[in-house]
Amino acid sequence: MFINTHTHTQVHDAKLELVNQDMDSTDKANHYSYGLHPWYIDKETYHDQLNKLEVIAHEKRCLAIGECGLDKLSKVDFDLQEEVFVEQIKIANKINKPLIIHCVKAFNELINCLNLNDNKVPVIIHGFNNNENIARVMVNEGFYFSFGKALLGYESNAAKAIKNVGRKNFFLETDDADISIKYIYKKASELLGIDEEIIKQQIQSNFETVFKTKL
Ligand SMILES: [Zn+2]
Repeated sequence: MFINTHTHTQVHDAKLELVNQDMDSTDKANHYSYGLHPWYIDKETYHDQLNKLEVIAHEKRCLAIGECGLDKLSKVDFDLQEEVFVEQIKIANKINKPLIIHCVKAFNELINCLNLNDNKVPVIIHGFNNNENIARVMVNEGFYFSFGKALLGYESNAAKAIKNVGRKNFFLETDDADISIKYIYKKASELLGIDEEIIKQQIQSNFETVFKTKL
């Protein structure tokens, strides 16, 4: 069974695709996550969007809050990013669903926001492609990782990190890349030197644990 833990389009090449639902889209995927991305926070509308998120987050097919998080390269004021992220941490904890995280150059701030708000839900860092030091800190925090197209790059950080994060801590994704999740599984299997079937079983088990679903 292929599971795509983070994508922006439903392409039906996996048993389960967790689609990052557009804030404005009325047409919902079979399984989705919903959240305010740090690139697109608008001072005028974010209160309304957070209210909308709080409603949608309760829906059964909404499996996670996100992608949300912090991005030092975003044009959005960083204090505003933190404020909106904290609100999403609160919503996720209120309804007890995992957070799917977008984080660029702000891992210390990310950990602080989560700890200061007494976060108890699983945290999945999506599109992880950072160095070993950051990976180690994130593993110690008990975070999960979702690896995608960066695995395909020769000796990328992601390709190194996947070997070190522990089998119970990872997922695979396509994000916005125009590739099949099957190709990412194949690459993960090569990098880890583990049969693809074992990877499928492991990710299914990880998914069932983190998202509290039976597949
Ligand atoms: Zn994404």
